[in-house]
Amino acid sequence: MALINEHFLKLQNNYLFSDIAKKVNSFKVTHPKKKIIRMGIGDVTQPLAPAVIEAMHKAVDEMASKDTFHGYGPEQGYPFLIDAIIKNDYASRGIFLEPGEVFVSDGAKSDCGNIGDMLRHDNSIGVTDPVYPVYIDSNVMSGRTGTLEDGKWSDVVYIPCTEANDFVPDLPSRRVDIIYLCYPNNPTGTTLTKEELKKWVNYALANDCLIMYDSAYEAYIQDPNIPHSIYEIKGAKKVAIEFRSFSKTAGFTGVRCGYTIVPKELNAFTLAGERVPLNRMWNRRQCTKFNGTSYITQRGAEAVYSPEGKTQIRKTIDYYMTNARIMRESLRSCGLRVYGGENAPYIWLKTPDGLSSWKFFDKLLYEVNIVGTPGVGFGPGGEGFLRLTAFGDRNDTLEAMSRLKKWLL
Ligand code: PLP
Repeated sequence: MALINEHFLKLQNNYLFSDIAKKVNSFKVTHPKKKIIRMGIGDVTQPLAPAVIEAMHKAVDEMASKDTFHGYGPEQGYPFLIDAIIKNDYASRGIFLEPGEVFVSDGAKSDCGNIGDMLRHDNSIGVTDPVYPVYIDSNVMSGRTGTLEDGKWSDVVYIPCTEANDFVPDLPSRRVDIIYLCYPNNPTGTTLTKEELKKWVNYALANDCLIMYDSAYEAYIQDPNIPHSIYEIKGAKKVAIEFRSFSKTAGFTGVRCGYTIVPKELNAFTLAGERVPLNRMWNRRQCTKFNGTSYITQRGAEAVYSPEGKTQIRKTIDYYMTNARIMRESLRSCGLRVYGGENAPYIWLKTPDGLSSWKFFDKLLYEVNIVGTPGVGFGPGGEGFLRLTAFGDRNDTLEAMSRLKKWLL
């Protein structure tokens, strides 16, 4: 008799985005003529950069000839991409990584979810609240979260990010083994300064904690004083794993490529207190369970770092960030309280009149035909907020804002 991992049964049946899709579908059935503007799911809308397309075409052609065909590649990623990552994303910021510290993957979601394979089920975890749901759900599956009571997992330390603290989390109320930080933040669109991030690195150093740092949105940072990588903070290589993605940086949501940095200096412990390097463990895990990202994809990702690629992806990021500015200004002019959108493609909107996240979601859908994401879907701390994304088409963004102005003013 095969026994299941019963922790899976604790997961809530409905995934946030399928709940939203159901509501939108039933609206469409009853209002077939209405034009819905989707500002909910964090998917991009603009095509891949021409330099990426060209590199991928070339790679496809290589696959057509015996001499240039590529079969299985290195599980960790091809050296050409790893070198480009180290040079462009890290060395340029004074961070020196060895090739063996970079693990190319099919995206940050898999890595954030799989990383727990290396860690015991009884580690305590801390998450900022609200948060990207994958951190919690993947830990539910591994049995680290306890039971769900009033929307909170009993064994998770929630670290509130609220209007009152300007969305800058305080250190956890009790010691945790593993802390998830995501900056620029999904869903609040807020960032941490170097000083604020330093506080976390120092806490982790002093308390033997492991930080999972998700910087999937680092390319959206506009303010030169905001750190792009946790390794900009001294000592961080001893305590942090960093996740990156080409999804939002270069429109790879459908292509799939990301990478994870596991520094060689980073250790965790056996029960007996012996230090074990996580780099070796993650390498072993990947070699066992992952067969590498496709050659064609990695050639496409490499082209993101070419001079043309850099210019082209910057143009698309600027396009989305202009959407974010338009949204921020329009929503503020309607008297709404709005956060984020300055160094991230997300706008975090306080619902008016004390409405719950879902109530406001329904009103937006039915009264102005705009789809957002209810903040409470990102954790209890998101109640009373709605997330809007700046990844839309410009005309749709302008139309959505004009509908909102007419509705609210
Ligand atoms: N991390 C965060 C914070 C995200 O918001 C997302 C996607 O929305 C991901 C990771 C997933 O990225 P990828 O497409 O590389 O799996």
